[in-house]
Amino acid sequence: MSACCYQCGGTDGALIPVGIVGQDNSAGGTIRACPACRKVNRLVPMADWKYIGDGRPQYYPAKGAAR
Ligand SMILES: [Zn+2]
Repeated sequence: MSACCYQCGGTDGALIPVGIVGQDNSAGGTIRACPACRKVNRLVPMADWKYIGDGRPQYYPAKGAAR
């Protein structure tokens, strides 16, 4: 599998890592998302992660949801 957006399957734009899947099996790897899906889903680029946790995608809080 080459790099494609895990949300829409597209390959447009700058696909950047947003998570790690399948750490418990052989089908895993880094998952990437395109700019459009990152924006729609508020995905946090892995480069900006403050913690790794279980490697699943992280999301910015919805506007107005914090506090
Ligand atoms: Zn996408």
